[in-house]
Amino acid sequence: MGTITEELKKAPLDLSRPERSSERKPFNRRDDIDQRVKWHNEDSAEPWNGVDCPLCKNRGTIAIRATIDRLDYYQLQVCSCMPRRNAHKYLVQAGLEGMILEHTMESFEIDFDWQGRMKQKATDYLNRHWKVNWFYAGGQPGSGKTKLCTAITMEIINRGNEGLYVIWRDLINRLKPTMNTDGYMKMIEKYQRVAVLYIDDFLESHGQPTDADVNIASEILKYRYMNSKTTIISSEWTLDAVLKLDEAIGSRIQELCGPFVLSVAKDDSKNIRRALR
Ligand SMILES: [Zn+2]
Repeated sequence: MGTITEELKKAPLDLSRPERSSERKPFNRRDDIDQRVKWHNEDSAEPWNGVDCPLCKNRGTIAIRATIDRLDYYQLQVCSCMPRRNAHKYLVQAGLEGMILEHTMESFEIDFDWQGRMKQKATDYLNRHWKVNWFYAGGQPGSGKTKLCTAITMEIINRGNEGLYVIWRDLINRLKPTMNTDGYMKMIEKYQRVAVLYIDDFLESHGQPTDADVNIASEILKYRYMNSKTTIISSEWTLDAVLKLDEAIGSRIQELCGPFVLSVAKDDSKNIRRALR
């Protein structure tokens, strides 16, 4: 017989179960644990976070009897479906749920050589560089920049990273009314701190960006630059144009993107092909 504390440690962990019948004597720890393992593993739930898992029947955990130093323990193991559930949750939080099937790397269509090179650059980025570098796709509307950047972002989130997708105009519209309030700091922190941020239509709101727009961009990107947080940006503005607008913002993007800058010229497809760096 151990001390009361030791005995308490061995007590059943799952308090939601019915009391054991007093007739079940003598008490056998191993049988008791096996019974609780069975109860847990027989339970099932409806699919959640977009996943229906036959392994854990949507409980998220699988119970086992583990033996350590010849003593048996009731243990719950996290099911292998959980990373997929988290990825789905992050995609929903990021507002990308509706795009899950349409915008994958596989579904990115290649009609021209330069699109193939765009895709190659994105694939390279995903394979080795996304934790260190940023990705910037600037230039002509309708060239597939948003599709490509969405696919990159979804791929990273699907690997279990928390991410956010935001359209610049929406971000500005949400932030500006809260300036000089506590709400502003809280909201801007969300975009500063999230592991992966994709800003679509960067600097495009209503005509030329105002000083306030530039300040907001600077606050978000400076923090992400200092803290090495993955950032993906698409815009009609080429990086050269951003550099002319605000050198500090442009040079931070340039430095962290390294080779992962796409510039699609605004003329015709001939120029687009030539201009793709
Ligand atoms: Zn599972």
